[in-house]
Amino acid sequence: MSKRCYYEILGVSRECSGDEVKSAYRKLAFKYHPDRNPDDPEAEEKFKEAAEAYEVLGNREKRERYDRFGHEGVAGNGFEGFSNTEDIFGAFSDIFGEFFGFSSGRRGGGNRPRAGADLRYNLSVSFRDAAKGTEVDITLPKDVPCSECDGSGAAPGTSAETCPECHGSGHIEQAQGFFRIAVGCPRCHGKGKIITTPCDNCHGRGSVIEDRELSVRIPAGVDNNSRLRLRGEGEMGENGGPPGDLYVVVQVEPDEIFERQGTTLILQQDITFVQATLGDRIEVPTLDDPINFDIPKGTQGGEVFRLRGLGLPHLGSPHKGDLLVQVKVLTPRKLTKRQEELLREFQEIEDNKPMKRAKDFFKKAKDRVMGE
Ligand SMILES: [Zn+2]
Ligand SMILES: [Zn+2]
Repeated sequence: MSKRCYYEILGVSRECSGDEVKSAYRKLAFKYHPDRNPDDPEAEEKFKEAAEAYEVLGNREKRERYDRFGHEGVAGNGFEGFSNTEDIFGAFSDIFGEFFGFSSGRRGGGNRPRAGADLRYNLSVSFRDAAKGTEVDITLPKDVPCSECDGSGAAPGTSAETCPECHGSGHIEQAQGFFRIAVGCPRCHGKGKIITTPCDNCHGRGSVIEDRELSVRIPAGVDNNSRLRLRGEGEMGENGGPPGDLYVVVQVEPDEIFERQGTTLILQQDITFVQATLGDRIEVPTLDDPINFDIPKGTQGGEVFRLRGLGLPHLGSPHKGDLLVQVKVLTPRKLTKRQEELLREFQEIEDNKPMKRAKDFFKKAKDRVMGE
């Protein structure tokens, strides 16, 4: 069957404005709305057809493509037409809200299955645990089905009754201007059932809040704001819908000696000016056991040494970052008499070095010239 022209479906001209398209669609949507034409397959077909035409002509870019290439121009671009009316309500929920004055577009909620909400849990882990990975037990309050009433909310021995207001459909018709439209039943809140004798344990909610213990595996290398997803550990769904997920958001506590930047570990290491000058073998802490490291002769304050593979692991990989050791050269604040003597002697030798004297001579000469 060949497709009807979209302009023909909406009954508008090829030159009409976007507002005219919208208004033409609005008229058809009202006319063929499934709530106003229950169990009328022909109306449903017309409703879908109009929605498809509006999906294309209501969008400037798609309309241009349609004008140039016809149906072929808009097919296969992520748009395959609507298979059922639920799709239409999903795609146009905002425009239906605008048209009909309610947001879901369809029967104000009702008793369709709904997925549970996702939950977030902030977890603080120590620097070393984040580096090595660990397992943490967390306790979180969770909605669980009430065991007294098996989640029905009705006291044991009783059951929920069909809502007399909406006769179980979950929605009622309301006059809106010229139209009668469906809105969620206020008496049963769209559930279609009411509980006359609520369960004592859950007060009719059907669920109770319980503390649940969960074991969370923290992979080695997690960083601040790493998100771990625990499938199905979120809030429970409604009407048989699936539960949401739990996201554990990690905060890593600072360490006393290490800093981190991604997978790089940074360490400030104090050495004496003698070690910096003469070189020395020192012990450097790592995430595991300390290692020996040879400070070379003539090391400058602030110099950085890179120790490969001694940093943090990349998440989900055996590779590790590096450890950067930045040395800080300490100047002695107090000297013994003997130490001071030696240093003065050292300075005398420095001052009498041939190179140094030559430099000083030129510097003095230059200062004299500049001073004139
Ligand atoms: Zn009701
Ligand atoms: Zn209960």
